[in-house]
Amino acid sequence: MILEFIFGRYCIFCQAIISDGHMCSKCKKDLPYTDREVIKIKEDDNYLSVKSVFYYEDYIMDSIYRFKYKNRKHYAKYYARYMKSIIDNRFDVITYVPISKKRLKERGYNQAEVLAKELGKLINIEVKELIYRHKDTQKLRNKGVEARKNIIEGVFRKKCMVKGKKILLIDDIYTTGTTLNECSKVLNGNNVHCLTLACGKNTKKS
Ligand SMILES: [Zn+2]
Repeated sequence: MILEFIFGRYCIFCQAIISDGHMCSKCKKDLPYTDREVIKIKEDDNYLSVKSVFYYEDYIMDSIYRFKYKNRKHYAKYYARYMKSIIDNRFDVITYVPISKKRLKERGYNQAEVLAKELGKLINIEVKELIYRHKDTQKLRNKGVEARKNIIEGVFRKKCMVKGKKILLIDDIYTTGTTLNECSKVLNGNNVHCLTLACGKNTKKS
């Protein structure tokens, strides 16, 4: 791939020039790994398990920004390796948080889908589009928990019948858990676990 050739010489996190691989030795050592922490979102007496590889800060923020908005789609191949490293369960199927048609058109790809597909290849599990968005929403960024809930409620629908499966739900960033929670509600009747590349700083243990 030409892009890989062009970008391959730079660390995908801090963009330092490197001779091989995809990251520099400093990032390897200093990136804000979550140490496999499991976050549990509590809603309606149900707990949803969420695992994230990194905290969403510093170079992780910059790297994900390039992945989503600066056409560095190929980063997903490397991100998926980290995601694989914190999975300790076997799943029946992998799915992902859908984005709206409008956003898909603007960006050209759904970053969560790209991550899910790279991960699926690595762990040899089928990736299926189980959920879709039936309406566009405003961006959730900078919105509080309650506002997010109101915006996102009822936005997702089940795309196909699936029951009694162990599902791994993928997204790029976990912030308040509103989106993941809403998606998991749609997948009721299944055992849903969430995995994201990064999670917000406010989820950090103090
Ligand atoms: Zn680096």
